[in-house]
Amino acid sequence: MAPIVPSGQYDFDLLVIGGGSGGLACAKEASSFGKQVVVLDFVIPSEKGTTWGIGGTCVNVGCIPKKLMHQASLLGESIHEARSYGWNIPDPVTFNWESLVEAVQNHIKSVNWVTRVQLRDKKIEYVNGHGVFEDAHTVIAKMKNGKERRITAKDILIAVGGRPRYPEFPGCKEYCITSDDLFSLPTAPGNTLVIGAGYIGLECAGFLKGLGYEATVMVRSMLLRGFDRDMVNLVQAEMEDKGVKFLIGKIPSRVSKQPNGKLLVEWEGDENGQGEFDTVLVAVGRKALSEELNPSAAGLEIHPESGKFITVAEQTNIPNIYAVGDVLHGRPELTPVAIQAGKLLAGRLYNGVQEQMDYDNVATTIFSPLEYGCVGLTEEEAINRYTEDRIEVYHAYYKPTEFFIPQKNVKHCYLKVITLLEAPQKVLGMHFIGPQAGEVIQGYAAAIKAGLTFQHLKDTVGIHPTISEEFTRVGITKRSGDDPTPQSCCS
Ligand code: FAD
Repeated sequence: MAPIVPSGQYDFDLLVIGGGSGGLACAKEASSFGKQVVVLDFVIPSEKGTTWGIGGTCVNVGCIPKKLMHQASLLGESIHEARSYGWNIPDPVTFNWESLVEAVQNHIKSVNWVTRVQLRDKKIEYVNGHGVFEDAHTVIAKMKNGKERRITAKDILIAVGGRPRYPEFPGCKEYCITSDDLFSLPTAPGNTLVIGAGYIGLECAGFLKGLGYEATVMVRSMLLRGFDRDMVNLVQAEMEDKGVKFLIGKIPSRVSKQPNGKLLVEWEGDENGQGEFDTVLVAVGRKALSEELNPSAAGLEIHPESGKFITVAEQTNIPNIYAVGDVLHGRPELTPVAIQAGKLLAGRLYNGVQEQMDYDNVATTIFSPLEYGCVGLTEEEAINRYTEDRIEVYHAYYKPTEFFIPQKNVKHCYLKVITLLEAPQKVLGMHFIGPQAGEVIQGYAAAIKAGLTFQHLKDTVGIHPTISEEFTRVGITKRSGDDPTPQSCCS
């Protein structure tokens, strides 16, 4: 039973713990309905001492710096391709890590500043303090200078997100970095080992290779667990073609520093081995920051395995405490998911809106660096849910027009549409590997929400020559065994 604060007035209508994607979205929406809101945001420095400003993971150490570094890597590729399109470009073209980091960090600082201005304009109080529950209506904010402030609120939103998890092996915390450190790394990472093959590990390895550094990915069992296996195999093949190396079925056992300054990594697996690297980046998943809130003081329950909050309509087991974003058990860890859930929650709490967050059919993209975008079910999930006899899988390889002149590898440009077999062949999932996959998939995600069927796709006239039009041309089923490789670009 949560301790009850004596009835009476609270300091605020809403106290938000965590000024990241979900927390800020909810805070701003609540203030637009005339509520008094306070946001607590505090970053505990990483093991390497890296810290950052308001805005949470996405802005500071997630989506935004990642996308900018992905773009830097794509530009390097484009510069080389430009020669075949007639551009005279000096040889060699050089790249400077320090300049990239400076540009990325300047952008982040400008976003931090705009966020603080927005909060001030909306009269949302921002407290740069670490929040810990005292009871279900009270949070103690601990500031950097050691001072504490006791804040009460009628409603409390937990939006504290997560941080990279460190695996347990000697030397890990001492010598390895995480994505929290990479985007502000003061010197070039050099030859890098990435431990972990989730999307963050693959994306980092992908852009580092594109920027000219050797990149190796150590994988315990499989890449991109939970994604469509055909697509994942192509992502891996494409990365290998671009020069990323994979150590599959290996786990690190120790990292130590050599007299020459290099990091010696020892690993175990079917065969034990070792290698020297300049940088070791661990990307083995993220840990929600729930325990750090002292949740039991408020009577909050946490899922024993995930360490996250179980909610119904974003409400925890304590009626006045809500949670959104990465700290929710069983929900996608994505920025737009946190934002949408935060906004809708404020609407329901303070504006009489009924709309619930729909966590189904959320599109996502892996910037790997040939992008993989998807929405809906994987082929494996569709088979599990409906059986193989009840689904149809359409697929095609395709050749982006802009790949021809620089003679780029089209081997891995591939798409898949998974439908129910029964008319009108409702679309269950769409998967796309190719340039700008995120841009391609976003529109189809809206179509799926609107009830897209295979007939709709067939009836849609494509925009030529684009890569997105390939979804309107696909007609070969996997079941037929016909060759899905295109004969020409325009037939
Ligand atoms: P966060 O944004 O993490 O915000 C939580 C905030 O709360 C942080 O500022 C934290 O310091 C603060 N905090 C924690 N505890 C306390 C406390 N006790 N008191 C006060 N403050 C506290 N998502 C995408 O959609 N697309 C992408 O391309 C993408 N790329 C990513 C790349 C990387 C490298 C990473 C790490 C993540 C990426 N994500 C991406 C995921 C995305 O960043 C998260 O899903 C999103 O930021 C979650 O938002 P949130 O509000 O739950 O938490």
